[in-house]
Amino acid sequence: MVFDGVGAPLRPLDLPDPAPGPGQVLLCVRACGVCRTDLHIVDGELREPKLPLVLGHQIVGESNDGRRFGVPWLGWTCGECRFCTTGRENLCDRARFTGYDLDGGYAELAVADERFCFPIPDGYPDLQAAPLLCAGLIGYRALRLAGEAERLGLYGFGAAAHIVCQVARSQGRRVFAFVRAGDEAAERFARELGAEWVGDALGPSPEELDAAILFAPAGEHVPAALKAVAKGGVVVCAGIHMSDIPSFPYELLWGERVLRSVANLTRRDGEEFLALAPTVPVRTEVQVFALEQANEALDSLRTGGIRGAAVLRVSG
Ligand SMILES: [Zn+2]
Ligand SMILES: [Zn+2]
Repeated sequence: MVFDGVGAPLRPLDLPDPAPGPGQVLLCVRACGVCRTDLHIVDGELREPKLPLVLGHQIVGESNDGRRFGVPWLGWTCGECRFCTTGRENLCDRARFTGYDLDGGYAELAVADERFCFPIPDGYPDLQAAPLLCAGLIGYRALRLAGEAERLGLYGFGAAAHIVCQVARSQGRRVFAFVRAGDEAAERFARELGAEWVGDALGPSPEELDAAILFAPAGEHVPAALKAVAKGGVVVCAGIHMSDIPSFPYELLWGERVLRSVANLTRRDGEEFLALAPTVPVRTEVQVFALEQANEALDSLRTGGIRGAAVLRVSG
């Protein structure tokens, strides 16, 4: 399913089989998760994708020797810049991203740099494994950067939050879910996964939080979350794009509150999270679409109609 540029739906197209270069592996794609980042690309909010482009950066694929690999958003790094050489390859100046700079997994075949492929943990079927590769990984990185917070707010309860909530609960944290006012489905879902309180994302918190993670791409959540966290609390913006943040009084940041973003992932995040997920155990809830239904999957994500994560079933 090929993206030609903003304003046109993805279209099915027969492309020549991709040929793996040195250090690359050819994968038969089994499943590919659909991420909000894909929407930001389709909508032109991320401005310079390769074109034409095969989207998709939560790839579960099988190599020709029968091993299952996951391919995440971070598809290549230079290994030489001051970020790469200091354990911060997520910030690499020349990083290339799967399904953005590199063709991704909305396709039957994909090639990937073998250094950026993760073995998929046993016990996770293809479709359930796919959301671990971005929603899970980025969510995990965001949770780590939230520190030791006992009272954790999650703003937006989609694919990433439904995974982070399970991890956080298993660590004994208390989870407060902030959803769109009146979104009863999201409310029920968050409660089922262990959130002790669910309420309006723009309203007050029932008590002070130690940290908040913002998954919804709406800038107005930033002052709301700063208002909700206690002195010394952290607000982590986990998305790659967000609408403008409204101005707010300095008082909301005062008291050593920290506001930060999370960018991409490192391979270490991937190794840690994929080792952790089966021990929680994280169970992903997926809504499955055929590869040819990629546009429907994106539309459902856009309108908030997905419970858990949207995943394309590709083959097998
Ligand atoms: Zn993603
Ligand atoms: Zn680099």
